[in-house]
Amino acid sequence: MLDLRRDSFSQLRDVLRWRVALVLSVLISVLMVILGGLNTRMGLADTALLAWVVLGIAVVCILGLLVLPKAQGGTLFFLSIALLLVVVMAFGLYHGRNMQHWAYIFPPVLIFLVRSGPALAGMIVFGAYASAVTALLLPAIEVVRFASGYGLLVCFMYTYALLQERAASMLRYHSDHDALSNCLNRRTFNEALEALASPRSTARSCTFLLIDIDHFKSINDQHGHLVGDRIITQVAAELGRLLDPGTPLFRYGGEEFAVMLVDAGDEVGPALGERLRAHVAACDFQGVQVTVSIGVGRWHAGQGGLSVALDQADQALYDAKRGGRNRSVAFAPSTGATRSDPSPAVSLH
Ligand code: GH3
Ligand code: MG
Ligand code: MG
Repeated sequence: MLDLRRDSFSQLRDVLRWRVALVLSVLISVLMVILGGLNTRMGLADTALLAWVVLGIAVVCILGLLVLPKAQGGTLFFLSIALLLVVVMAFGLYHGRNMQHWAYIFPPVLIFLVRSGPALAGMIVFGAYASAVTALLLPAIEVVRFASGYGLLVCFMYTYALLQERAASMLRYHSDHDALSNCLNRRTFNEALEALASPRSTARSCTFLLIDIDHFKSINDQHGHLVGDRIITQVAAELGRLLDPGTPLFRYGGEEFAVMLVDAGDEVGPALGERLRAHVAACDFQGVQVTVSIGVGRWHAGQGGLSVALDQADQALYDAKRGGRNRSVAFAPSTGATRSDPSPAVSLH
């Protein structure tokens, strides 16, 4: 199945996280130089050593961020900091030094690393660990003070992460979907094409079905645009009903839809086209007779570009229209499908 998850949202998140990691690792490096110097001057050899170790880790993180892919570089940085904080607590216990002030960094670091649910679990476990370490070093009142501050911080961080996650998924839904038909929109279609064409794609073939509502202008003219809008929504719902849950349905244009079948057999596309056509023709759209014409084109990795396959689907759709509409036509080079009208632009970007 085509991986639609590596979309522009995920990429933007990775890039932003990477930038934050780079700024933080530079900041940590500067901080550790200052702390290491101060501790050395004060004769605190153990904490000075810790600062130099953290400086080393921050430098490795900077190199990792510059060399690795952005998503992995970011994960490396935040994971290193989280593990370091676990070690710092144990280090403090071993040397009899109070290190709980560093524990407050753990919740925001975890928010950058995992989703809100697992982050909350991790924050609670770390909080219990840091409280136990504090209890072994300091009087009970200090444990209560630490646990109260840390607990409130966890509440704020978790609430923020949850809100941010919900807002992002809502925004993402609206940017991926078309408001009228609830199908995936043309932007998502273009992203899916890019994912398919990318060197990382493992897809070997893809069948495109272009579906166009017949005489839709007449439906608008006879029944009004509001009814036209309702028909678009209903046709999309009926098409979606027949598709497998993993098969994406896009609103390709005004009254046009597209289906992508990745790595499906040769016969699957034409058979699905015929089933979709017959289903729409048999549906009752509250008294309005609606039919669709469908063109099917096929792409194989290494045999021409995706735009060629889309152009084939478009030619087949044109043949379906010319052949009388309410039909599904699969492009076959041997039939020499031709057309005399200018083809709609098929953009890969
Ligand atoms: P054909 O069978 O050749 O496809 O004819 P058609 O009338 O469906 O095609 P044409 O391209 O001539 O007209 C499409 C019409 O679809 C024109 C446009 O106003 C209408 N349309 C496009 N988007 C929407 C929409 O979101 N809502 C409504 N109500 N109409 C739309
Ligand atoms: Mg059209
Ligand atoms: Mg039409």
